[in-house]
Amino acid sequence: MIRENLQRIVEELPKGVTLVAVSKTKPNEAILEAYNAGQRIFGENKVQEMTQKAEMLPKDIQWHLIGHLQRNKVKYIAPFVSLIHGIDTFKLLKEIDKEGRKNNRIIDVLLQFHIAQEETKFGFSFEEAQEMLEDPEFSAMEHVNIRGVMGMATFTENKSQVADEFRALNNYFLTLQGHFFKFNPTFDTVSMGMSGDYAIAIDEGSTMVRIGSSIFGER
Ligand SMILES: *Cc1c(COP(=O)(O)O)cnc(C)c1O
Repeated sequence: MIRENLQRIVEELPKGVTLVAVSKTKPNEAILEAYNAGQRIFGENKVQEMTQKAEMLPKDIQWHLIGHLQRNKVKYIAPFVSLIHGIDTFKLLKEIDKEGRKNNRIIDVLLQFHIAQEETKFGFSFEEAQEMLEDPEFSAMEHVNIRGVMGMATFTENKSQVADEFRALNNYFLTLQGHFFKFNPTFDTVSMGMSGDYAIAIDEGSTMVRIGSSIFGER
């Protein structure tokens, strides 16, 4: 069913919205099924799992780390990761810059914002992000490139609350773009929307959806 699910979702997505197929906990065979149906971008939330899968699977897969990332694990993914979604502290960004330098590459990242009401979700507040972007130490970094923002809405049936949270994230994106990234056309990504809420996210300006269970089945 993976091929059918994937094709149905890809057809639904408007132009300009990128699909990250979230393959966490799923075996390599499931990823290959999606790969053979044309999918190239996969999302994982654990460093070790992503590293193991990347070793085994085709080299043209673009691996996105979508979960919380600990600083001491950055080194394992720095050589190959395509996009890190969950930057939530300046310290983490500095570590990625350091590992990017060692690997002689510029690592693409997204700033994660706390938009949900739940306490448990990670992310910057707008003020924290602003403070970081104004810091001279940030301007001096040469091995990270901030591509945009990422967020997760509250897990609730209340669609207008979810829409409000996504709208807030898109507003953060637009404000940061106007203030800090006016001359950086690669600041172009709003990563929001999962299996249960991606339609709302797209209505609110998402350019990247992260979909797992609707493609691969329940975990
Ligand atoms: C697991 C996960 C997803 C995908 O969730 P589904 O509900 O299975 O689509 C998206 N984003 C993040 C950060 C996740 O951890």
